[in-house]
Amino acid sequence: MLLLNSKEDEYTQLLRTASEIKNKHVGNIVYLRGLIEFSNICSKNCYYCGIRKSNKKVQRYNLTDEEIISAANFALQHNYGSIVLQSGEVQSKVFSKRIESLIKAIKRTSDNKLGITLSCGEQSEETYKRWFDAGAHRYLLRIETSNKELYDKIHPSDSLHSFENRLECIHFLKKCGYQIGTGIMIGLPFQCIEDLADDLLFMKDIDIDMCGMGPFLIHNETPFAQYDDSLLPLNERFELTLKMIALLRIMMPDINIASTTALQAIDKIGREKAIQVGANIIMPNVTPGIYRNNYKLYENKPCTDEDAVECSSCIEIRMKLVGAEIAYGKWGDSMHFKQKKNI
Ligand code: SAM
Ligand code: SF4
Repeated sequence: MLLLNSKEDEYTQLLRTASEIKNKHVGNIVYLRGLIEFSNICSKNCYYCGIRKSNKKVQRYNLTDEEIISAANFALQHNYGSIVLQSGEVQSKVFSKRIESLIKAIKRTSDNKLGITLSCGEQSEETYKRWFDAGAHRYLLRIETSNKELYDKIHPSDSLHSFENRLECIHFLKKCGYQIGTGIMIGLPFQCIEDLADDLLFMKDIDIDMCGMGPFLIHNETPFAQYDDSLLPLNERFELTLKMIALLRIMMPDINIASTTALQAIDKIGREKAIQVGANIIMPNVTPGIYRNNYKLYENKPCTDEDAVECSSCIEIRMKLVGAEIAYGKWGDSMHFKQKKNI
């Protein structure tokens, strides 16, 4: 009911409750993850994504090992505590070995001071295990939607885009020992409010440790550009995302919830608003500025014309605005995970 057009006072009450629960369970603290979008090369063709394989207008890039390590060092020097290595999906022995060596190199050069989260899509259980053993300890793999029928409508129907595989990967990750993060997009074509309610239950059910969810936004060079006129208006997608964050915080008080960049694409202070209603993770982009324009998942992606230094000072000011304290130099692991494991 709360996801539907709730009355103004119900909406305000929901956000206030979520904020109180957040402060009580994880504090008014924000953890930083320096986001390194290290490659936009992808073998998949998700209908919604701007860097899908068939988009020939994207200039493909792959950061060198030196560039990746230097971006990680930037995060270390700025006391971010953690990084996220994110890319398009590539499944190969070469890719798997490369990431393994990079994780080891970053752990070594940072003297184990940087926590590493990965977001490199679906891989074999063996690859996930190698990366975990090398030192990565958190993994983000969005289910995108927990409704298989909807999943099949937003992806091509072939074995590369299988709902069952995606789900299996989440289970592999859990088995390997990662803190697992999943999430969804809000306002997708064909999505209804019941799907979103089910998504919340799904996340609770599989007992996630972290969540990253955000509004779906159009990229003009994707098959989904054709639905631009039939989507929920941007302000409603935004409001719905805040409600989803607030509800998830109430349902799972001690998990980590990311305030995603897509929110800022709709509202200049969208990420700050998400922090106020339950999110506790921000991922400042530390990818070298020259590549950012080529990691455009959707139109109007913010900060593509900035560099890591600008992002760093901007985040500090933005968090001060909402009275949140940045926990510099901390890995900021999921309290939910720690409690489960009795750490
Ligand atoms: N390739 C990996 C994967 O798919 O898991 C990681 C990178 S992928 C770009 C990260 C996330 O971007 C996806 O899980 C998806 O939810 C989100 N995304 C892609 N296209 C989007 C769009 N048009 N609007 C909002 N989010 C989008
Ligand atoms: Fe590739 Fe991920 Fe985009 Fe799908 S969402 S096309 S897997 S980068």
